Amino acid sequence: MAAMRRIRRSNKIPLNFVSRTRSRRPRIGVRREIVCVIPTPTLTSSDVSLAVEDREIPEEIICHENVVETGAVDVSAHSKRKEKLAEMWDSLRSSATQVLTEGFGLPEVKCCCEERATVRCLQCGPCSYFCPRCAVLQHKSSFFHHCPEVWNGVCFIPFDVPGLCFNQHLHLCDKQKPRSVTLFHIEGMPQTVSVTFCECEPDALTLMRLRYWPGTPKRPAVAFSFALMDWLELLLLECQVAVKDFATVLELRITASLRQMPCTIYPVLIDAFEEYRYYKGQIRSLKGVCENVSAACPACPKTEGTVTISIDGNFGLCRKKAAGSSSHGPLSGTKMFLDQSMVTNYITHYSCPTTVYRGTQQCSDFLAGNALRSNSRYSRLDETGVMGAACRHEYPICFLSLQHGERISYSVLLLEKLREKFRNHHIQFMYDIACTLKKHLMNAGRRDLLETVELAIPVFHAYGHKMACQIEFNPRSIPGFGLSDGEVLERLWSYLRRFSAMTKEMRPSHRIDVLTDALLHYARRTARNMSKLLNKRLDHAKRVEQEAEQKLRELRNKSLAVFTDEDIVGWVQQERTLVQPQCSKTHSCLRHRTLCMQVSQSL
Ligand SMILES: [Zn+2]
Ligand SMILES: [Zn+2]
Ligand SMILES: [Zn+2]
Ligand SMILES: [Zn+2]
Ligand SMILES: [Zn+2]
Ligand SMILES: [Zn+2]
Repeated sequence: MAAMRRIRRSNKIPLNFVSRTRSRRPRIGVRREIVCVIPTPTLTSSDVSLAVEDREIPEEIICHENVVETGAVDVSAHSKRKEKLAEMWDSLRSSATQVLTEGFGLPEVKCCCEERATVRCLQCGPCSYFCPRCAVLQHKSSFFHHCPEVWNGVCFIPFDVPGLCFNQHLHLCDKQKPRSVTLFHIEGMPQTVSVTFCECEPDALTLMRLRYWPGTPKRPAVAFSFALMDWLELLLLECQVAVKDFATVLELRITASLRQMPCTIYPVLIDAFEEYRYYKGQIRSLKGVCENVSAACPACPKTEGTVTISIDGNFGLCRKKAAGSSSHGPLSGTKMFLDQSMVTNYITHYSCPTTVYRGTQQCSDFLAGNALRSNSRYSRLDETGVMGAACRHEYPICFLSLQHGERISYSVLLLEKLREKFRNHHIQFMYDIACTLKKHLMNAGRRDLLETVELAIPVFHAYGHKMACQIEFNPRSIPGFGLSDGEVLERLWSYLRRFSAMTKEMRPSHRIDVLTDALLHYARRTARNMSKLLNKRLDHAKRVEQEAEQKLRELRNKSLAVFTDEDIVGWVQQERTLVQPQCSKTHSCLRHRTLCMQVSQSL
């Protein structure tokens, strides 16, 4: 593991490659070692597979001391490099402290006007010193967002430039009036600046033209720079930094710089940030510029063809009842999440004809839904989780909030929505309990769905099902599914799950907005990496084909009898008829499902 971490840090091998290697379990009695060839700057997927090879070390070596020697070259070279680096830092340390300490003082310098300089501005540059008069001239209107400091004989303290003004109004008329606004710029520091507004448009819009986001829509007294909001957006979507924590950090920075806090930041920032993200969403979707831009997966066929879609539920992304209710619907609308009132209505009124599903024990068991969690735990939750669909390229498609256990009706609803969305496509539909779903759809008489959708169980989940299910639903044994494993949502959850601590305490609409933004961020990231992903999969597919052909050749050589390709097709059919699908008679699939949910919740 240490070796693996080392490779990642030093050679920047993509994360997905490392996690794939890490997830493989070492064989018993064999020590696995990763040897890395120094990669070229343009690393292709084939380079990666060349760069890493699993070297098997016989058991007897592990039992003896010379085990260290097998990895000696790699380990010692690395630790030598580390030691050398530490030595160099060590020799620099005392002089570095000296240099940094000097930076706190005022050097003997003159301003451009030959006066003695007592003011510095680190935003103007590391060697920018002024006399107070020149500092005011320099910063009054164009560099009003800088934070000049003045020497008070002991240390530098904030230098207040009187009458800061922001007059870069592109529009001129006689109805203009200046007004003071506190602007938070990219450094996070507040500056009270006189901004020229005009009766021709709301003050909030003028601030937006100046690239500051207003704290309130009417006569804003506070505004945040776009750059600061962009930082906050990225920190939220990549590092799950809550707005409250960000506000606390801003306050800490402001007080540490000996400045006055103009207001409590959080209440203003939270509403302003929600609006800002909405605006960013509009810009990204080219709203008002080009309305026909599709937000769909760039690799899936657009008008017709086959789409492979997986669905799954996640119970980590719940919401507490105590977190309150929303006064308005989500700003993100139905970009990612289905309208919740429609979902609730559908689930409440969903009924399976009683005469039909009496005979199928498993469907009715599953409908109760509570096998997965206790009732008392549900009673404190308003939304119990999230269920969603993504295509085989890991691009999110459609999501909904769960309000019960994972009822079969939720998957039927999703299936209906997908059928609507991909009207002219052939749909390959993967779900952990596709066997139960198929039985259910048959009993409910939903031929419309069954005849146009091909059902399968994601590869790793399929092994938990009984033999008959595996033969009928394992994508590896259904023609046309290729190497799609159907586990795309497991990878998506590992990203989305990181928001659970935050969204648990949010109001319903706010939660939907944050999760939508997170999913759109994930989609953008997926689209950016699409060419790499497709290349990697193509390489993998070629390799699998070669290996399979090789194995078949070996078998043919070893076997005494001669068999043709037709024989093999015959055997596959024979296997299908011998093992009759009888999933409804047992509970094995449901039991597997419960176990699986418990495991994923404990992660
Ligand atoms: Zn400056
Ligand atoms: Zn001067
Ligand atoms: Zn005007
Ligand atoms: Zn796709
Ligand atoms: Zn099954
Ligand atoms: Zn499962």
